[in-house]
Amino acid sequence: MKWMEMPKPELKKLFDGTLAAYEGRKAKGLKLNMSRGVPGREQLALSNDMLTILGEGDYLSPGGTDCRNYGGLEGIPEMKAIFADILDIRPDEVIVGGNSSLAMMFDNVAVNMSHGVRDGEPWMRQGRVKFLCPAPGYDRHFTICEYFHIEMIPVQMTGDGPDMDMVEALVSSDPMVKGMWCVPVFSNPEGCVYSDGTVLRMAALKPAADDFRLYWDNAYTIHNFSGPRPAIPNILRECEKAGNPNMPLIFASFSKVSMAGAGVAAMASSLSNCEYIRKRFFVQTIGPDKLNQLRHVRFFKNFEGVMAHMAKMADIVRPKFELVQNILQKELGGLGLAEWNVPAGGYFVSFNAPRGCAKRIVSLCKEAGVILTGAGATFPYGRDPWDRNIRIAPTYPSLDELREAMEIFCLSVRLAALETLM
Ligand code: PLP
Repeated sequence: MKWMEMPKPELKKLFDGTLAAYEGRKAKGLKLNMSRGVPGREQLALSNDMLTILGEGDYLSPGGTDCRNYGGLEGIPEMKAIFADILDIRPDEVIVGGNSSLAMMFDNVAVNMSHGVRDGEPWMRQGRVKFLCPAPGYDRHFTICEYFHIEMIPVQMTGDGPDMDMVEALVSSDPMVKGMWCVPVFSNPEGCVYSDGTVLRMAALKPAADDFRLYWDNAYTIHNFSGPRPAIPNILRECEKAGNPNMPLIFASFSKVSMAGAGVAAMASSLSNCEYIRKRFFVQTIGPDKLNQLRHVRFFKNFEGVMAHMAKMADIVRPKFELVQNILQKELGGLGLAEWNVPAGGYFVSFNAPRGCAKRIVSLCKEAGVILTGAGATFPYGRDPWDRNIRIAPTYPSLDELREAMEIFCLSVRLAALETLM
């Protein structure tokens, strides 16, 4: 029976039972931080051989670059080739950076603010800069905007990606809309894969600002754990066809492929954008950590090596996502209280609690020892208009810890819902 339809005395009985069960769990004193999408130990261990793969005397890349030395501003060719295959573009469209793609995004926004896009008028001198922010979305994208006082305009996510009617209307009418965050494959947190139609409409945008940029964050492009890797149209090629060759800036990294603290990141764009980026890199650094790139090249060898590794990764991650789905279904299915997505890849399960309950649920979980991502974090300015979205990140805990944490989570959802229903 749906809880909304239940008579008050029955709800009271349910509440008393749920509260007792919750207090029992709380007394067990679990301590678990599930606030971020962090790879678990088993996932990291898959790449442990990388720690010793460069034996003494192994510092020359296959092409002969001395990776100990300065230089190689845009990465060693073999690392560029691997990224090019992952992103289905040409190696000369790739610039390899340090370990973090988020740092490359931050850097790109910072430079556009202070120096403009391709040496144009700095964004910050043109007025109040605005970014479109699909929501729920990745909190760190929003933090970058907040840091630079960029106004964030939330765009509703649909099953096909961001609401494109809204995107087209805003981008084409307002020259201060300078950017948009996109996580096209297994979006954070919804696990949404943009439909072909969405990608094509995105490529064909007619921005009012000629310095508008699409921040195409391909963080999870090879992170399918159930079913094949999704194939979406190639944004770089589609933008070329639509007459927007310089609009997309693509980002990717090995943070959730090899080691989150010691991966390799890259960005990709048109040749002409790469030219500008290279000029700036020259000012910024005398070269990236090429030994880490060499480690990756030796360990993965090529695209096929990366994909074989990701298949092993999927086998580790899949049972955790299945466990989350099973517990949610068992404890909350059919009650008419909540909805959640069933992603085929990525790092998160996006959970929509009864309206007005997300903050309460996160706080009940915390009291019982389970730290979740803050309620609201998936929306610009931390403001979830319905206070209902919670990001569940199942990868870090062990299966046993995850089971306990999810049981506490479901008890907290039930308790918060009963509090509002009574
Ligand atoms: N982009 C998205 C969508 C993410 O979810 C994350 C990490 O959670 C990142 C980027 C961070 O990437 P990196 O570790 O390469 O900085």
